Amino acid sequence: ATEMDSEIVNEPVGGKSGTRRALGFDLEAGVEGGMRSISPIDGCVLGHVHRNMPADAAGIAARAVMAFDAWRRVPAPQRGELVRLLGNELRAAKTELGRLVSLEAGKIEQEGLGEVQEMIDICDFAVGLSRQLYGLTIASERPDHKMLETWHPLGPCLVITAFNFPVAVWAWNAALALVCGNSVVWKPSEKTPLTALAVKQLFDKACQAFGAVPGDLVQVANGEREFGETLVADARFALVSATGSTRMGRQVAAAVAPRFARTILELGGNNATIVCKTADLELARRAVVFAAAGTAGQRCTSLRRLFVHESVHDELVASLKAAYRQIRVGDPLDGQTLVGPLIDRAAFERMQHALACAREQGGKVTGGERTAPEMGEHAYYVRPALVEMPSQTAIVREETFAPILYVMKFASLDEAIALNNAVSYGLSSSILTHDLRESERFVSALGSDCGIANVNMGPSGAEIGGAFGGEKDTGGGRESGSDAWKGYMRRMTTAINYGESLPLAQGVRFDV
Ligand code: NAD
Repeated sequence: ATEMDSEIVNEPVGGKSGTRRALGFDLEAGVEGGMRSISPIDGCVLGHVHRNMPADAAGIAARAVMAFDAWRRVPAPQRGELVRLLGNELRAAKTELGRLVSLEAGKIEQEGLGEVQEMIDICDFAVGLSRQLYGLTIASERPDHKMLETWHPLGPCLVITAFNFPVAVWAWNAALALVCGNSVVWKPSEKTPLTALAVKQLFDKACQAFGAVPGDLVQVANGEREFGETLVADARFALVSATGSTRMGRQVAAAVAPRFARTILELGGNNATIVCKTADLELARRAVVFAAAGTAGQRCTSLRRLFVHESVHDELVASLKAAYRQIRVGDPLDGQTLVGPLIDRAAFERMQHALACAREQGGKVTGGERTAPEMGEHAYYVRPALVEMPSQTAIVREETFAPILYVMKFASLDEAIALNNAVSYGLSSSILTHDLRESERFVSALGSDCGIANVNMGPSGAEIGGAFGGEKDTGGGRESGSDAWKGYMRRMTTAINYGESLPLAQGVRFDV
């Protein structure tokens, strides 16, 4: 790959042409035959980056093995020091990187910055963790024996990320994988290759400050899906952590299963909120609008299904409609904007198709139309859609990655919980109520079946301290906080005999 100067010149594929600065990153632009990075803001090409082909996968995996062999020898707290330095680089470049996220993924500025903050937070978390990769001592049933449980580095980790969190998801994985003693290969979304290269530059700076970091400890490998498939099939990856659609996760799981390697799958969601009759409706209005319309409905945890108690349904729907009318949709770099563009035309078409299905299935659609023509014909901005549905029909049970909120009524909490759980996904959910019995039931074993169940807020916007992920078609993986680090290490159980006889477990006699 050729390194070019720090300016990326737009090659307009349509819409507004112009020049966007690469914000101080030395990004590979104008690579011959490279992959294009297109800004959803105006449909212009931000730059070209090196495209790896399937034949490149084997060399990448081999380098990851070499890096792993060296890195696992470095004591964990020292590995934490590298991640601390990465956090410092991210702090220093927060504004620039956040802006690049906005340029390439179309997020509003606040959310681009928030994504970088999330990277900083997980680095801090991982630094602390690097001195707390605790095992256990276990009471042995045999005299003069003890047992231990120890955690060891796992191996090269392949991290596949989705377009909608182009940098944070890598950091959730990489910060933990690195302190756990692993090397990392990052296969970013083909829609966001530039942000990945920018992060790699920050990582390289941290490596320089650290000193002796093995080469290729982190490799960024941009390429199309076929290249990703070849990486996944490479037996040298001990872990494949993949974030994206359920379709992708099924393929990855099937490809990795024959070699029994580990996966962490973070797949789609179809998240619901239940608003009970005692809920604070003003709080509900704000929580729902952020979760359903924010990030243009392109978060895995975006709110897509809203169940409202029949006694407060009409009042809440009226206030949501009024709020929806106020939402500024447009250029995400404008500080007043709340909702930026959809990622591309295909996303827009899928949204329109879903709205047509919803109408056929009895839905009353408000909003959902294309807007912001000033951003050019190659950019896809939509008004967030609110759809009043007579029941939870087939289209409501699907994940459409766009700002569509289906609203339905319920009479009893049992009914609402059953509706919450009646989809194939199990990522996030929430309840708004002032009734302790209701909220406790929702978070109990008989309540929400999701990996995340929030109270008096929406389902989106997780903190890094908790384990993140969900059940069923969401893939079952957990990453980020809590004990998710164990997914990046291998567990060893050791029994030690410090006596002079050889008692066998379970009292078995075997005298020779
Ligand atoms: P996608 O599945 O199209 O692509 C995700 C990544 O997988 C890309 O890097 C892509 O190149 C790669 N990929 C696709 N097929 C592959 C294969 N067979 N082998 C190897 N790699 C493959 O998803 P997207 O459109 O980028 O993202 C949107 C989806 O991601 C939504 O469904 C959303 O809910 C989900 N998502 C989930 C989480 C989570 O944490 N649960 C977070 C963000 C996004």
